[in-house]
Amino acid sequence: MKGPQKNSKTFLGSLWPGVFFRLSLALLFALLLTGCARSRESSRVDTAMGTLVSQTLYVTREQGQTREIQALLENLETQELSWRLAGSQTARINESAGDAQGAPLSPEMERWLRALLQVSEESGGAFDVTVGSLVQLWNLDELAAAGEKAGSDSLPGPEEIREALKECGFEKLRLEQGRIYMPQGMRLDLGAAGKGIACDRIRAYLGGREEITGAVVSVGGSILTYGEKPDHGAFKVAVRHPRREGEYLGILTLEGEWYVSTSGDYERYVEVEGKRWHHILDPHTGYPADSGLCSVTVALGPGGGPEGENGAGTSPAGEGADCRGLLADALSTACFVLGAEEGARLAEAFRAEALFVGTDGSISMTPGMELLFAAEPESP
Ligand code: FAD
Ligand code: MG
Repeated sequence: MKGPQKNSKTFLGSLWPGVFFRLSLALLFALLLTGCARSRESSRVDTAMGTLVSQTLYVTREQGQTREIQALLENLETQELSWRLAGSQTARINESAGDAQGAPLSPEMERWLRALLQVSEESGGAFDVTVGSLVQLWNLDELAAAGEKAGSDSLPGPEEIREALKECGFEKLRLEQGRIYMPQGMRLDLGAAGKGIACDRIRAYLGGREEITGAVVSVGGSILTYGEKPDHGAFKVAVRHPRREGEYLGILTLEGEWYVSTSGDYERYVEVEGKRWHHILDPHTGYPADSGLCSVTVALGPGGGPEGENGAGTSPAGEGADCRGLLADALSTACFVLGAEEGARLAEAFRAEALFVGTDGSISMTPGMELLFAAEPESP
């Protein structure tokens, strides 16, 4: 009995050092690997597109990614989206209004415009990217800057509004074989979708960088969450209180990739004789939208986007052309104009979730939003 025990002891005794050695090596290697792969935070706050841009990236290697994203946004604004800066594609399109030759479109601009036209159609014209002349007439940025000094004589009159409306109307815009044709006087204004487009661009950048494991980027009121946080917890995105400066209405809890946009009457507005005039215009009346809302938040997650053969989040124009950021932004504006009831129907058509805050303080939301949103105990 004793012999074999002794033998097995000897056998194990000779085996253990090798096993230990290999196990220790494997453990060390695993530790090194997880150590290398552990992400750290890289953040930046800057401005672009006339608004604040804040980035939090989780990276395994820092390689100036936040600087690259900032540069990407500046390029997007100056080369493509700005309707204010001469030389951008949008400015060139606007210059071509009335020209029978039209203007050439980059494939991406064509995809964006086709997706925006779809939102116009589905919203019955509540969203309209051709409202440039009307936006220019109202010039809310200048009125807001004037503040209390702005009197009723600084607001446009009914006749001027009627004239500006003649230069608007998405049905009058034609897209054909890579060109755009617009009638005289028409002006595109991408203010309602540009920050969402920026989120889509950032998403494309992040997808090409394997060292970025997660991100939360906010371009003004448009937010992208991507990947995972190092602690694997969900992303928490605060929804601003539309009437209490610096306070939150509640928190959205989001897993993975989401696009969130908020449109409200509290940022670019002026009060004249007790009435609030804000920057989201109703293309049917020519006046600031008066649908009883003061804020709309739209969230598009995995599976969001228009119903149809192109699948989730793709534009009607493009194979795999993801434009959920654009859609979240355009839909928040459209829903604001439509009001809570019709807005909820529109959101549903795009498989988006929406949260509506009324000027009377009431809150309503789509069923899916109830799973994402938790109100602050004190709000509204
Ligand atoms: P949203 O609801 O997303 O959009 C409202 C804006 O969309 C309005 O301001 C108007 O421009 C337009 N709009 C109004 N009604 C409608 C409607 N019914 N359908 C469609 N569009 C409508 N701001 C500055 O102060 N200075 C700048 O230099 C500047 N440059 C910018 C450059 C770019 C490329 C972009 C995208 C924005 C820029 N902005 C700038 C901000 C811009 O002027 C708008 O105020 C801003 O985009 C509004 O965003 P929002 O999320 O608050 O509102
Ligand atoms: Mg918008």
